[in-house]
Amino acid sequence: MTHIYNFSAGPAVLPKEVLQQAAAEMLDWHGSGMSVMEMSHRGPEFISIYQQAVADLRELLAVPDNYKILFLQGGGLAENAIVPMNLVGRVAQPATVDFVHTGSWSGKSIKEAARYANVNVAAKPADGFTSVPPQESWKLTPGAAYLHLCTNETIDGVEYNFVPTVQGDTPLVADMSSHILSRVIDVSKYGVIFGGAQKNIGPAGLTLVIVREDLLGHALPICPSAFDWKIVADHDSMYNTPPTYGIYIAGLVFAHLKKIGGVAAMERINIEKARLLYAALDADDFYSNRVAVADRSRMNIPFFLRDESLNDKFLAGAKARGLLQLKGHKSVGGMRASIYNAMPIEGVQALVDYLNEFAGR
Ligand SMILES: *Cc1c(COP(=O)(O)O)cnc(C)c1O
Repeated sequence: MTHIYNFSAGPAVLPKEVLQQAAAEMLDWHGSGMSVMEMSHRGPEFISIYQQAVADLRELLAVPDNYKILFLQGGGLAENAIVPMNLVGRVAQPATVDFVHTGSWSGKSIKEAARYANVNVAAKPADGFTSVPPQESWKLTPGAAYLHLCTNETIDGVEYNFVPTVQGDTPLVADMSSHILSRVIDVSKYGVIFGGAQKNIGPAGLTLVIVREDLLGHALPICPSAFDWKIVADHDSMYNTPPTYGIYIAGLVFAHLKKIGGVAAMERINIEKARLLYAALDADDFYSNRVAVADRSRMNIPFFLRDESLNDKFLAGAKARGLLQLKGHKSVGGMRASIYNAMPIEGVQALVDYLNEFAGR
């Protein structure tokens, strides 16, 4: 097999060891004679897989006891509707929901929430999506049903390096699809954390929701029961069939992360990977990244060539070296390197070597 490094923004690279273990267990999981894909979600084998995955994730993120960990379907995008359907009913109607608009993904969340509540954009940078507006500038709504942030904008490469303070009992909702488990977080500062799995956790089709218990039980009557967090929590994510194989792979990823020292150890490696890559991009003006230095993502790094007529040549040369999926998102252009947890530092170094070589350094 040819050796490559996969810089895809998602679905994205997974740890080799995890894929090898999944391959070895594909036809016969732990002597059961069954593939995990063939198991009843209510049988003892799968229940043990599920319980271990939940326990390991709880340990990795130090999730407090008064939070539920839910595994759903629908992806990050479906949560843009599921979140308001579950939270808007907490406050008197008509409800208002606050957003900070920092890029493409928070933009999509705003559009979807507007179907269920009044939406207030508390802040949006004036000059494109290249920074997180300072919290002093946010115009928050007293009594808002919740405040929604996308704490890592996958397309724009903007990441929060702080947890904002919220007013009153307004819960903070964070879309962490593309950086969950990449850094240490204080779960107790959030009401809801959600994310699609296919960036840092496992295969597409699995969605993670971590929700504080007092926020359960407010679903609007129009909310499908399969997406009513209270019903899902009361059934340990088995109200309907959960994405069982996705949960299994996520469990292997959690166990792998524990083995390498947990989220704090992972964060140290991620800081070093991002430092290496940004240093190469900043070395001179051959390349540029337009995001304010303090708000630069450690996971998704968009960049441009000074001479954009060289884009195709750059991508062809990268591909020839096994550096794959570096083309930027169509809404931003240029290039994008996604360096999630499973991207080894050797992969970042290989990209840095190519950046230097292509620039003629
Ligand atoms: C990928 C992504 C999503 C969407 O996930 P889907 O699984 O495609 O619905 C939402 N938010 C962020 C921040 C993402 O990176």
